[in-house]
Amino acid sequence: MLKVLKFGGSSMASAAQYAKVKAIVEAEDSRSVVVVSAAGKRSKEDHKVTDLLYLCHAHLRYGVSCDSVFSMISQRYLEIRDGLGLSLDLEGVLAALREQMEAGMSEAALASRGEYLSALLMADYLGFEFVDATRWLRFNMDGSVDQDYSYAALRELAAGKRIVIPGFYGALADGSIRTFPRGGSDITGALAAAALDADIYENWTDVSGILMADPRIVENPEPIPRVTYTELRELSYLGAQVLHEDTIFPVAEKNIPLNIRNTNDPEHPGTIIMERFEEEEAPGDERRFITGIAGKKDYAVVSISKRGLSSEVGAIRKVFEVFENHGIAVEYTPNGIDTFSLVVPGAKLEKSLHSIVSQLQERVKPDSIQVTKDLAIVAAVGRRMANRPGICGRIFSALGREGVNIRLISQDPREVNVILGVDGADFAKAVRVLYDSFVK
Ligand code: ASP
Repeated sequence: MLKVLKFGGSSMASAAQYAKVKAIVEAEDSRSVVVVSAAGKRSKEDHKVTDLLYLCHAHLRYGVSCDSVFSMISQRYLEIRDGLGLSLDLEGVLAALREQMEAGMSEAALASRGEYLSALLMADYLGFEFVDATRWLRFNMDGSVDQDYSYAALRELAAGKRIVIPGFYGALADGSIRTFPRGGSDITGALAAAALDADIYENWTDVSGILMADPRIVENPEPIPRVTYTELRELSYLGAQVLHEDTIFPVAEKNIPLNIRNTNDPEHPGTIIMERFEEEEAPGDERRFITGIAGKKDYAVVSISKRGLSSEVGAIRKVFEVFENHGIAVEYTPNGIDTFSLVVPGAKLEKSLHSIVSQLQERVKPDSIQVTKDLAIVAAVGRRMANRPGICGRIFSALGREGVNIRLISQDPREVNVILGVDGADFAKAVRVLYDSFVK
């Protein structure tokens, strides 16, 4: 049994958090590969070390002293070391870094040092071997990861060992450092889990899993116990955020379960994400067909009406081309006979509205074009909705009873989601009604 664990910034923020990490790692023998983020915030007003590193780089670029910012970063790590009673020569490491900075360091190289320092300390604290990410995680020039090279390199480096790896960065073939987008340590953890064919990828953060709804809308929403990758994509596309979006691909490819856990509540089972689940939990609980509820505001709908539109060969392609020409991705396309509607982000449409309308008029020659603004999309997502008659009826009735008018409906035949458009003003209410009716 091999478990790969990734600890996020809040789990690395202070000596007290490091102590929690150690207890978690030592609780199971199989927890032998640990990926860490840079130190995150200790409180709302605090700074993330990665932000400070980017700030340092900006100072250096404009020839402004970054001494005070650098000393905040140094302080953070020295405090952690001293709080844990470690004797690692961090002063030496920091002095060498300061020299490198003066000599000229790329933004990525400097930004990566938060994870580097976290990993050095954590390896020392756990008594694990430090394996630098530049030794295995290879980026291609286009920013993608060379999976074959990286996986083989890590397999060799990790064989039979207990290791700590810094997240967020790797190196190009010439050795220069490159980072993932912000939040990318999640991706490093997923790649490490896939490389080592781990039995599970545990992603330790500061929440007890992915919540069933946005806590800013629903009070104290429950965490989702189990979710499939497909459901998660649906939820995160519409705003549910816990993991970096690209995290799931390496582990999904190998069907490695991804378990989101809370460092501050290690007994909580969190959320398990998998390709599919063989046995369903609570199969008898008829109400529990929704896995999660997500949504986004500020959509606009462009409806194009033309007599005979549905039978006019190539007309829909022309419509799409107009949106493509303006760099606008069309998210949903509900339609009727002779009316074709496109749901797009409102802000993007606003910028090019006149040009889009005139191109549509010229190329498609519609009878009318109608633009509906301020629409919100709400999605009820759930694998247990498939092949169960009556689900949509129940969702629509619950919303209707509470006076929420549904303006748009979309569901594809996989039946893992029901997507509804409501007026922006009804957004929060719609999410609450769904939660209260089918989860609470
Ligand atoms: N430290 C990086 C960031 O703040 C990467 C990460 O924590 O995942 O974005």
